[in-house]
Amino acid sequence: MENLGTPLLDRAPKAINWYAVVSSQESIVPYMMDNGLLKKEMTCTHCASDMNLCKRKDISDSLQWKWKCPACLLTSSIRRSSIFEKSKLPLRKLMELVYYFGIDLQIYEVEKLSDISHVSVIEWFDQFRIVCKESLTNDPVLLGSNSEHLIEIDESLFGKKRKYHRGTGKQDTWVFGMVEKGSRKVILQIVEKRDRKTLLPIIQENVAEGAHIISDCWRRV
Ligand SMILES: [Zn+2]
Repeated sequence: MENLGTPLLDRAPKAINWYAVVSSQESIVPYMMDNGLLKKEMTCTHCASDMNLCKRKDISDSLQWKWKCPACLLTSSIRRSSIFEKSKLPLRKLMELVYYFGIDLQIYEVEKLSDISHVSVIEWFDQFRIVCKESLTNDPVLLGSNSEHLIEIDESLFGKKRKYHRGTGKQDTWVFGMVEKGSRKVILQIVEKRDRKTLLPIIQENVAEGAHIISDCWRRV
């Protein structure tokens, strides 16, 4: 499964082209396979042969895609081994959800546009977040791999404002941000302190060696 969210958005077609792809069973399945959302190859669970991708018209004259084993004729859903395996929603609806997630729509906006229930949208968005997290864990984003891109780093304070400067300030949270200029790559990390000992390892882990960093005093070497 490829990244969803921002990486998808980077490659996402304009909405009108997107709907042209996902509104037809003829085009949606190859599209999902090309983008890693459905398996491109399948092995028969009965005899371990490579299965063939078949399409046929069903009774209602819509197109049905199936995996079929040439040896034992076992068939299998094209959703097998994908995150959509257990869903009963049509692929078109599922791809709508992927698209809305990718362009960062709010849950209530997705409900209005898609006719998918509130609970279902929340569950799917949770699922997409898990996929994004797994993908980023397995293939972390490295900023500054392209030497033309500058990396801007900064720290911001988030937290509740204290009335009349009272309180201990324990609710304040410092967030260290690294932004690759000219791309959509951003990394944010909550930090306890903002000293060199805390921030330098974060930069070393997330920014390519030799990348140019815009800041008061940092340069990755
Ligand atoms: Zn078989």
